[in-house]
Amino acid sequence: MNADDPVVSLEGIGPALADKLAGLGVERVADLLWHRPLRYEDRTRVASLASLRPGLHALIVARIEHAEIRHGRRRSLLVSLTDGSGRLRLRFFHFGDRQVRALQAGGWVRAFGEARAGPQGLEMVHPEYRVVADRGAGERVAPTLTPVYPATQGLTQARLRHLVGQVLAMLERPGFLPDPLPAEIRDDRGLPDLHEALRTIHAPPPEADPAALAAGTHPAVRRLAFEELVAHQASLRARRRALQALQAPPLRPDGGLLRRFHAGLGFEPTAAQRRVIGEILADLAHGRPMLRLVQGDVGSGKTVVAAAAAVTAAEAGWQTAFMAPTELLAEQHYASLSAWLAPLGVPVWLVTGRRGDAEAAAAMAGGEPGVAVGTHALFQEGAGFGRLGLTVIDEQHRFGVHQRLALRDKGTGDAGMPHQLIMTATPIPRTLAMSAYADLDTSVIDELPPGRTPVTTVAVPDSRRGEVVDRIAAACAAGRQAYWVCTLIEESESLAARAAEATAEELAQALPAAQVGLAHGRMKADAKERAMRAFKEGRIDLLVATTVIEVGVDVPNASLMVIENAERLGLAQLHQLRGRVGRGDVESHCVLLYQPPLGEIARRRLAVLRETADGFEIAREDLKLRGPGEVLGRRQSGAVAFRVADLLRDADLAPAAQAAADRLLTAHPEVVDTLAARWLGADRRYADA
Ligand code: ADP
Ligand code: MG
Repeated sequence: MNADDPVVSLEGIGPALADKLAGLGVERVADLLWHRPLRYEDRTRVASLASLRPGLHALIVARIEHAEIRHGRRRSLLVSLTDGSGRLRLRFFHFGDRQVRALQAGGWVRAFGEARAGPQGLEMVHPEYRVVADRGAGERVAPTLTPVYPATQGLTQARLRHLVGQVLAMLERPGFLPDPLPAEIRDDRGLPDLHEALRTIHAPPPEADPAALAAGTHPAVRRLAFEELVAHQASLRARRRALQALQAPPLRPDGGLLRRFHAGLGFEPTAAQRRVIGEILADLAHGRPMLRLVQGDVGSGKTVVAAAAAVTAAEAGWQTAFMAPTELLAEQHYASLSAWLAPLGVPVWLVTGRRGDAEAAAAMAGGEPGVAVGTHALFQEGAGFGRLGLTVIDEQHRFGVHQRLALRDKGTGDAGMPHQLIMTATPIPRTLAMSAYADLDTSVIDELPPGRTPVTTVAVPDSRRGEVVDRIAAACAAGRQAYWVCTLIEESESLAARAAEATAEELAQALPAAQVGLAHGRMKADAKERAMRAFKEGRIDLLVATTVIEVGVDVPNASLMVIENAERLGLAQLHQLRGRVGRGDVESHCVLLYQPPLGEIARRRLAVLRETADGFEIAREDLKLRGPGEVLGRRQSGAVAFRVADLLRDADLAPAAQAAADRLLTAHPEVVDTLAARWLGADRRYADA
């Protein structure tokens, strides 16, 4: 028997049971060992009745004082017990004659269950129990805490325990499941070896802390979490090494074009922008591909930074592919890049699913040094680059990790890989970034351009909608523009679209002097684009939209943002939406309209938004409220679908896991494969994405 054999090779497992186990994620023999108990029961000692408390699960042995059937609202069998220290009542609603005969006064019972407060003192409802001959006969206890596993219909705890026990016993066999982590790496962190950890998790000694084991804070669980983090980081970093072993064109022009670019901007880059541009230029100068993630809050000016990289590539004679998640955003980048780059003589092409431009295609294929801006169509619709030197991916949290990795493989043939610049407006704490983006270098734009007036945020119940409409009227009368965002609970774009249509009509009637426009995901792309363009050009005063506008749209004259049903959105999304205003020099406001009553989490979220505009601060709060899987985006869950590790709980392990991953890659590369196979599953996510 091998740890990697399918579970059917275990004794007593047929296809039906194997199916059920597969439903729990257990496919190979060793998977049973990664199936962690939800909680533990303490059957290692007999508790005295006096020591019971409501909510406590306990094993007891006691004598029956009295048993009777009550015919109240519900017929029930009540069995009163004593052990000399105290009393307890067992209560059964379902019982048969045999049970009644067996539970006679004077007999002894051994029972396991949860004590609860009943009408007359503590009771256990439907405990597991057995009638025993006497007190002594009941005192045989379990040698270890009893695990309670996530189970499924038709698969009992007893069965699962038996199966896990079978595999635990196999750990004795030499070579069955060797510990992939060398002792020197474990010892650094004081972590137990693999076998000890697994035994502690599935068969904890009586003195182990069951709460810590269940919560994952126990060293035995942390040991597995650490191994899992090492596995992920080692795979990502192996990819990184492989990519960096490839060639990329060194982009090392003399910088004259970049100086002209800066001079033509009409504003001074912030110190943070200058620093990040410097980091990028240093990467580009090398003959190995840059792999850099730029994190910068909404409005921090990431586009200019990417444009500087593109100008450098162009000056060196290479092309840039600039990818945005939506057509709207691609359009916007196209507009800004054209304005900045055309005067320098660098061509900018727009490539979306709809816009095929033969001339542009020919120029791109011919290798003319320019910038192609587009959606994923850039890589899908046969767009050919003659001399691709740099790819830029904007708003990367909108793309999945698979997409991100797949893009990398659009190499340039003889010239090797293009350099890669990835930008995200979802700032995440460093330790989380270390795990999720272990394959990337990161730069942070931690400063907003000057002259931004902070957005004042208020939360207003929907009953005061009328006042909000008055505010819009005032803003529009003053020549300013406003957004009104409609959201719905299921995130169904079609329902939200209908809500937006209805709201737009309602607001058009309430605001006769204002031009009201509409933008949602169900509109024809060009109609949506027309509305957005009209809004950008100031021909629309109020734009009613769904969350399609969340990503990156830049209209500096918009100074009022109303978000309906704000209580339903996550912090990150609210922050992104709010980031659409406060981009000009007028004072901006964000109104979070909510439907009372607010739940506790929604209340906290809205409070966080009122109190801070700092994306990192908001991300930290978001992490506390939602957990890392969601913070990184559902589509990215490929990167964070951890089995044991919890990126928040185990954040402190991330730096050590990264160091360990690098050590393994250098000193024990063979172990990295074992780890990847164990933790990243059959698809080997990063290894061959
Ligand atoms: P984001 O980081 O959210 O993508 P953008 O790149 O869209 O931000 O920039 C937001 C706005 O700020 C744009 O209008 C951009 O031209 C402007 N901007 C960027 N950098 C500066 C700066 N250093 N000074 C003034 N305005 C800037
Ligand atoms: Mg942007």
